[in-house]
Amino acid sequence: MDLGIRGRTALVCAASKGLGKGCAVALAREGVNLVITARGKEELEKTAEEIRRTYKVKVDAVSGDITTPQGREAALKAAPAADILVNNAGGPPPGDFREWDRDTWVKAVDANMITPILMIRAVVDGMIARKFGRIVNITSGAVKAPIPELGLSNGARTGLTGFIAGLSRTTVRHNVTVNNLLPGPFETDRLRSNLEFNAKKLGKTAAELRKVRTDANPAGRFGTIEEFGDACAYLCSAQAGFVTGQNFLMDGGAYPGTF
Ligand code: NAP
Repeated sequence: MDLGIRGRTALVCAASKGLGKGCAVALAREGVNLVITARGKEELEKTAEEIRRTYKVKVDAVSGDITTPQGREAALKAAPAADILVNNAGGPPPGDFREWDRDTWVKAVDANMITPILMIRAVVDGMIARKFGRIVNITSGAVKAPIPELGLSNGARTGLTGFIAGLSRTTVRHNVTVNNLLPGPFETDRLRSNLEFNAKKLGKTAAELRKVRTDANPAGRFGTIEEFGDACAYLCSAQAGFVTGQNFLMDGGAYPGTF
């Protein structure tokens, strides 16, 4: 299916690797020009070059921390009239809430709730004026089924989800949609470091815990960043103009509810 977005411009935050990269690659494959960001310049440039070479689209690599005003300003300067915005940033660390002080909470809420809201605020009125916009927030399956040791993520991302639920209903009549993608376990560095953390706690090796986790998933495996990117590309497609305010869970069927 031609997704009808060739020649559009996407700003994909936190995209040098992992889920953000999966989204950037899938959009590039559809002929979308990109601005991608990450803090580490070297890996970001490498990813940008790989995408340019493979898909022959324009890719600007803007290094910076998207959770800071400077990082957001640089990203938005490179994509002043983005048609597509993919919000993403590193997730907060795991731990026990007894150890988290106010600053730890403020940092998590800043990164995983306030940053995407500020990015949306910067682009949404331009999208409305141009009568096309697709905004996708990478959140987490933890919004639907909280993960105890990821309390910072459970809390901050659920706040974002509540905000998006309201906003997304006000923009859709202008062909501007806002949706959330909720990853379950996907093969990324983030997942690998969470496995290490939990394995240590349980007195297992990361390989042993990986086997337990993949066996327990109805799909018998973790997801791939390509699968994730393809779902993102659909939500950004011309065809998805009637889909807004949705929380699309991708977890291999791990969430046990009927809905
Ligand atoms: P990842 O493989 O570690 O990749 C994270 C990417 O984001 C990297 O490109 C990283 O580059 C960039 N990044 C991180 N913090 C940034 C910041 N402050 N500003 C700009 N770029 C930043 O992680 P991932 O697994 O793709 O996870 C992406 C998001 O999905 C995270 O919020 C994670 O919590 C969430 N999530 C992931 C899973 C999973 O199974 N993988 C499940 C649920 C939720 P630099 O480090 O160079 O900045």
